[in-house]
Amino acid sequence: MGFEGLLGNERLKENLIRSIGRGRISHFYLICGPQGSGKHTLARLLAAAAVCQQADKPCLTCNACRKVMANTHPDFITVEDPEKKTLPVRLVREAREDMFIRPNEADRKVYLFPQELNIEGQNALLKVLEEPPTYGVFILLTDNPEKLLPTVRSRCTELRLQGLPEGILRRELTQSFPKADQEAVSAAILRSGGYLGQAKDLLEEGAALAPQTESFVAAYVARDKLQMMELLVSMEKIKRDQFGQILQQWLELLENGLVSRCGMQAVSQLAKQLSVNRSPEDLLDAIGHVKKCMEYAQGNVSVAACCGYLLWHLR
Ligand SMILES: [Zn+2]
Repeated sequence: MGFEGLLGNERLKENLIRSIGRGRISHFYLICGPQGSGKHTLARLLAAAAVCQQADKPCLTCNACRKVMANTHPDFITVEDPEKKTLPVRLVREAREDMFIRPNEADRKVYLFPQELNIEGQNALLKVLEEPPTYGVFILLTDNPEKLLPTVRSRCTELRLQGLPEGILRRELTQSFPKADQEAVSAAILRSGGYLGQAKDLLEEGAALAPQTESFVAAYVARDKLQMMELLVSMEKIKRDQFGQILQQWLELLENGLVSRCGMQAVSQLAKQLSVNRSPEDLLDAIGHVKKCMEYAQGNVSVAACCGYLLWHLR
């Protein structure tokens, strides 16, 4: 069975199967990826691999694997407080003490930290990271590894989740939403950055791509100043919320275009157009200005002034 439950990410899965096949399970894993990229799925498969009783880990059929998947294994412990934005340090300390009690059933004891840890929490965890019990496996999830202390990060085996190719996304979305029309599926794929969880959320919200977004890409790709001006002038009267949503779409597309410029696959036609027609420097520059403009719009700057800013800066 292995890691098939995680879609895409073939190279990552091959590497994991190879190292786990050799009996190498790290004490610390840091799973990185944006919301909806499969962090929780991978964490669970890793936890199953750590306690699995069969040779082909994770087999997902043995008693231990099944218990992990059903969240009933006594040696698979999730450390979280869903009410809080970051993990309270108290829970890290409790987990730290619990770690020194030997596992109940398995050869290993797996702790999953799905929430972000603040500096205090990370420092509390660091003590264990420095001298883990031989049976301890710790899995941290983050959408941004840069937020972690270098001392924590350097001790972890980093697993980075990638966006999925369009074909897989379309197949999965069509299966999950058989009644959705292909236009809506395409818009969700485009806006998801390649992450299935995000694409599903977008389809559920019924969020289609704003017409201004397609116009933006057309003008930016063609370096058409007049078209860009017409577009931005037409946006001056838009309500602040809607303006923010449109800029969010632009930002996602630009980021997607930049990522695909760096060798990863573009998930949408529009992102592909951006990456083919504009240099990475241009894209990075535009990302910076759109972000800045979003900050202004969230503050007290008028939408019209924000449009003026973009007109001046987006070249
Ligand atoms: Zn198993």
